[in-house]
Amino acid sequence: MFGPMRLRARMTLWYTLLTFVMVSAFSVTLYMLTGSVLEAILKKDVQLQLEQITAQIESEHGMLTFENEVPLSKNTMYFITEEDGSELASYGDDIALWDSVPILPDTFQVVHQGTEGWLLLDSGILTVDHFRIRVRVAGSMATNDRVLSAMRLIFFLTLPGMGLASVWGGLLISRRSLLPIRQIIQSANRIAQGDLSARIPPAPARDELGEMTETLNQMLQSVEEAFLREKRFSSDASHELRTPVTVIRAYAETLRADANLTLGHASELNTILAECERMQKIIAQLLTITRGEEGRYSLCLEEVDLRIIAGGVAETLADSLSERQVTLSLAVPQGMTLRADQSLMTELLLNLTENAIKYSRPGGRVEISGRADPDAVELQVRDDGIGIPPEALPHIFERFYRVDSARDRSGTGLGLSIVAWIVRVHGGSIRTESYPGEGSVFTLRFPISITG
Ligand code: ADP
Repeated sequence: MFGPMRLRARMTLWYTLLTFVMVSAFSVTLYMLTGSVLEAILKKDVQLQLEQITAQIESEHGMLTFENEVPLSKNTMYFITEEDGSELASYGDDIALWDSVPILPDTFQVVHQGTEGWLLLDSGILTVDHFRIRVRVAGSMATNDRVLSAMRLIFFLTLPGMGLASVWGGLLISRRSLLPIRQIIQSANRIAQGDLSARIPPAPARDELGEMTETLNQMLQSVEEAFLREKRFSSDASHELRTPVTVIRAYAETLRADANLTLGHASELNTILAECERMQKIIAQLLTITRGEEGRYSLCLEEVDLRIIAGGVAETLADSLSERQVTLSLAVPQGMTLRADQSLMTELLLNLTENAIKYSRPGGRVEISGRADPDAVELQVRDDGIGIPPEALPHIFERFYRVDSARDRSGTGLGLSIVAWIVRVHGGSIRTESYPGEGSVFTLRFPISITG
């Protein structure tokens, strides 16, 4: 029903629970301790009362006398009887206390009368002259009960407040302690967008989080270095391959010019030449990509007329259009300009249109259209060719990815990677819609604010 709990919520919950348990345990202990201390004081008082009353009972002329009929302590009652239970003297009017409670000498008894509690203490049999008497003293527990109920009230009133305060405190503490982690996540997100040179801002304190930031930054440094080494390797390899392929091609061309070649050898040489051409194309494309990724390509930005570029692309592809019997229509409005690198824009449109022709069926139609709105320029290359299966769509911009490499040997799988890079360096975006058997639409959008 609920998703996994956020760390902050978990920290707050634990903090609140812990505070609540600690405050409750402290309150209960304090309450019980106060109760037992108050009871001990009352017991001492009742004991003292019993001793004082007993000391005041005397016999004069065969009669029992009392010096003081009012007990020293307020809230105290006493009851003096003969051994058989007949009353001799008493103070306090709660008769029921005397009649209904059994006599247990030297033992404290707690008795409740209505809402009031009493602590009772009986003396043993005392002999004064020929009198054999008993004394019972009762101390009221009302004051103790009032103190304890006031404590209960305080606890019940303050506990919800304390609960709320600990939730608030927990939220505050967890927010403060998680703030650096949130900053790390934000920076890591920025890095994940593709900027490997970015680093997490160092934490102000040299604590665990500071160490974590430092370790992460060191890790990023190693990752960036490894990544650059890998890029360097691709570009170095492409460079190194360029010369041998050129040499192979030159020799193959010389050999093909030989008039004494057999038909079989001529066809083999043609295959070698075709593969050389393909390899040169791959090398050229790889160099473009690696140079772009290493940031070694310096953009030459100028006001580019997209209608002129589209016209140029149509001219370049005129042969392959007629070879494949595909019609190309241009619908780019006049004066549609963009601040961009002219040769990259040409390469971009060339790649997309080449693909549109390559993956069209004979008699197919390809259209390059343009549209400008106040904050962006949109270019669209549309074909009604074989289309791209939905499961392949997320991969077509990956290097060397080809939907069906067996069917067509002319592709390299690098064209769309170049397209993606060109779009990226111009701050644009690309959207692909394609349905197998119906055709594909590649929509490019360049914000004017960024490129202009
Ligand atoms: P390639 O050199 O193979 O065309 P790309 O990187 O240009 O390489 O394209 C990658 C893959 O995407 C192609 O192999 C192809 O399967 C598919 N693709 C690209 N454009 C189209 C299109 N207009 N129609 C159908 N499939 C396409």
